Amino acid sequence: TETIVAVDGPAAAGKTTTSRVLMAIFGLRYLESGRIYRIIAAEALRRNLPPDDIAAIEALCEELLSETGPNTALASPRHTPDSLRSPAVTGLVPGVARIPGVRTHATALIRQWAADQAAPCIIEGRDIGTAVFPAAPVKFYLNATPEVRAERRVGQESGLSYPAVLQDILRRDYQDTTRASAPLIPARDAIEIDTTDLTIQQVIHRMATAYRA
Ligand code: C5P
Repeated sequence: TETIVAVDGPAAAGKTTTSRVLMAIFGLRYLESGRIYRIIAAEALRRNLPPDDIAAIEALCEELLSETGPNTALASPRHTPDSLRSPAVTGLVPGVARIPGVRTHATALIRQWAADQAAPCIIEGRDIGTAVFPAAPVKFYLNATPEVRAERRVGQESGLSYPAVLQDILRRDYQDTTRASAPLIPARDAIEIDTTDLTIQQVIHRMATAYRA
């Protein structure tokens, strides 16, 4: 099996920024696995499926896969990156990600994607080091206080209010850590990095050093 670098942690802990830099430094293939969960949530929203209609949402996963095949199920031309980050989708996605059938579906897609690359990969998400690739040789778990994560998000995007962003982060943390199936938790062998008082360069330096070792 190919080398997998797993980057897990809660929302706005720095996973995407650092993963993209490691991708460039080491020539890794990169996957943002949250995208799969966002596509399913966006499609559920478009079809007006309530998040507690588990059977309908599981059927939707099957349909997306059979309609488009694993590669397009990841790309989803119907949903642009911006629409996948809308507050409506972001609000719905952790509820959808609690459904065991949805997780099975997404896990299969992520594994298939990695196998197709036939090259070392860096994959960010919530359960990559624990459930999707428990044998990954390099695992990172990035974390920071909710307040600092909210501040960073407000600084990155214009027009966001700090209290609303903080509330959203706390709600997502709660939903991601309390679900029964593959909850957000550091893998036992993950390198945990508390990024609260670190610059992005310092985080990247630690990760790059660990990857080389
Ligand atoms: O990383 P991103 O913010 O795009 O993830 C959106 C949501 O998708 C997370 O809050 C989580 O509920 C879900 N997710 C997950 N497992 C992953 C990636 C994302 O449950 N591997």
